[in-house]
Amino acid sequence: MYENENCGRWDWRRQPLGQEEVGELRNLLLECQQVSLVVGSDRVIWSLDEDSGFSVKSLKNGMVDNGGAMDNYVMEWNNWVPSKVGIHAWRVEMERIPVWFELLKRGIAVSLTVCPICEEEVESAEHLMISCRFAQHVWSVISTWCKVPSIYAFTIRDLLEMHRYTCFSKRKEKAFYAVCLTTIWCVWRARNALVFEGNPIILNNVAGEIKALSYLWVKHRGKNTSLSWEMWRGFKL
Ligand SMILES: [Zn+2]
Repeated sequence: MYENENCGRWDWRRQPLGQEEVGELRNLLLECQQVSLVVGSDRVIWSLDEDSGFSVKSLKNGMVDNGGAMDNYVMEWNNWVPSKVGIHAWRVEMERIPVWFELLKRGIAVSLTVCPICEEEVESAEHLMISCRFAQHVWSVISTWCKVPSIYAFTIRDLLEMHRYTCFSKRKEKAFYAVCLTTIWCVWRARNALVFEGNPIILNNVAGEIKALSYLWVKHRGKNTSLSWEMWRGFKL
């Protein structure tokens, strides 16, 4: 609850979670404090073009002028994995998967807020795929298997772009990217199996599933018909 002369009395459904939300709340309250109410009838204004009002053109111009507000990121698609796997990674990148943090942000009551795997931090897409201890173990297995330097990612985008910074041939780079997309897919599946079916998460099982699924997809969808399981186990393409 919050009260001041301009804002009236807030009655939030829940307390803000994490630094980001606390910062957003503080900014909101600061904005509200700058509002001065006057007598007269209300009217709607469009701050990007106060004379003419809203138009798509003024919105577009405002976004271009603002630079950072225009997100030009285009995810690279990989037809060696099924489209559902690529779409899932794309949704993870946009933070559009139903982890607890996202459900809470949308006002959905959930009984749990911490990561169901490590139970140490609020579960966000980034936590689940990057900073969770389990995710770190998985990426460590992947980097050892594929013989790439240790994977240090700060954002999901880093995970989706790291194949570009390998010294692999184009074909091997695409296979490594397929492995990364498969990893994001399998971590999410393992998390869901834990949450909805109570299946414990076992690193070796998840790593085995990543290797087996990516082998199937890279061999058959990528038409790498001569690729044997032995070669794949050594990530030799
Ligand atoms: Zn965790």
